[in-house]
Amino acid sequence: MIAQATVRKATALIVAAGTGERAGFGQPKQYALLGGKPLLRHAVERLAALSSIEAIRVVIAPGQQGEFAAAMAGVDVGAPITGAVARQGSVRAGLAALADAPPRYVLIHDAARPFCPAAVIDRLLLALEAHDGAVPVLTVADTVARSADFMLGETVDRRNLVRVQTPQAFRFDAIWAAHRNARVGDVTDDAGLARAAGLSVAIVEGDEALAKLTYPADFARAEERLRARLVTRTGMGFDVHAFGGPGPLVIGGVRIDHTQGLTGHSDADVALHALTDALLGAAADGDIGAHFPPSDDRWRGAASHLFLEHARDLILARGGIIDHVDVTIICEAPKIGPHRDAMRATIAAMLRLRTGQVSIKATTTERLGFTGRGEGIAAQAVATIRMEELP
Ligand code: MG
Repeated sequence: MIAQATVRKATALIVAAGTGERAGFGQPKQYALLGGKPLLRHAVERLAALSSIEAIRVVIAPGQQGEFAAAMAGVDVGAPITGAVARQGSVRAGLAALADAPPRYVLIHDAARPFCPAAVIDRLLLALEAHDGAVPVLTVADTVARSADFMLGETVDRRNLVRVQTPQAFRFDAIWAAHRNARVGDVTDDAGLARAAGLSVAIVEGDEALAKLTYPADFARAEERLRARLVTRTGMGFDVHAFGGPGPLVIGGVRIDHTQGLTGHSDADVALHALTDALLGAAADGDIGAHFPPSDDRWRGAASHLFLEHARDLILARGGIIDHVDVTIICEAPKIGPHRDAMRATIAAMLRLRTGQVSIKATTTERLGFTGRGEGIAAQAVATIRMEELP
C-alpha cells in the first residue's frame, strides 16, 4: 500500500512593488523581459503550475496598474493589491487583503525569483505542521570574513551561517498578527519580523534556482537557464495561389516584375503564407486560416508580413527561439534565383534573424501539373524552433 500523501496548500503573495529603474533595465525590474516575458509573469506562472498553490495575489507599486495588466494579460490572477514604498508595508497590505478570507498558509515570495522548484514548496509546507514559519536556506561555501576600511578583518565561522531565500512560508494568522504589531523598518524580511515577534521559524533546504535576479548579469544567467529548458520543434507549411490577380507579384516579401500577379484574399504571397504555417505548426498553434480568417475583411489585400510577424510574436512571447527557416518555391516562371538574396534578407528582417538562418530554394515540376502549366505557384516551408515543452 502506498500511503496517500497529505495535500498541503497555500496562498502565494508575490511582492512586485519595486519602483527602481536600476541601470540596464529601463523599467522596474519586475517588468523587465526574461526570455521575452516579464519577470513577474514568470514568477506567477511558475507558482500557478504547482498543485500546492491554491491562489496567487500580487502586490504592486502604486501607479503600476497599467504595467501589471500588460505583463499579466491572459493569466488567471486576481486583481493586484497596491503596496507601499517599503517592502514591509507592501507585505502588510498584501496580508490585509487576504485577511477577509484568510488562508491557512501563506507563502511570501519575490517577483525577482522566477524559478521556484516544487520540492522547496513541499518542504516549506511540511515544516509548517510543526512551526509558525519556514524559510528556504542555502549554506555558505566561501570563506566569510569581516572587512573594514578596505582591509580584511576577522574570519566568521560560516558553519553557522545560511543564506535566506524566498518564498517564506507562514501560518497566516501568526504572520498577520506579527505584521500588525511590527514597527515599520524593523527588519529586512518576513522571517526576521516573525522571529522578532517570537514565532518559531524553521529552515528547510533551499535551491540555487531560487537565486534573486538583481543585476543585468543575473538576467543573462537566467536567460541561459531558460534556453537550456527549450526543446527543438519542427513545423511545415504548404500553400498555393493561382495566377490571374491584378498584381503586383510579391513572393517572399519581394516585388517581382512579371506578366501576371497571383489571386488571393491578401497580397497572395505564397512563400510567406507557407512559412507562416510552418512557424504556427512548430508552435502547434493552428494555421494561418485560423488566425486570419479569409472571411474577415481586415485581411483583404493585407501585406503578408503581418501574418509572418504574428507567428513570430506568438513564439517569442512564449520564450521561444526561431533557429532556421527553409522555403521552397515551386513554379516555371518567374525565375526565383535572381531574387533569392533579397528574399532571404527580407524574411530575415521580418523574423529578426540573420540571413544565414533563412534559406530560399526554387524548383519547377518539369512542366507537369498546375505549376508546370503555369496556372499558379506553390510553396513549401519548414521551420525549426526551440520552445518550452507544451502540456
Ligand atoms: Mg495563401
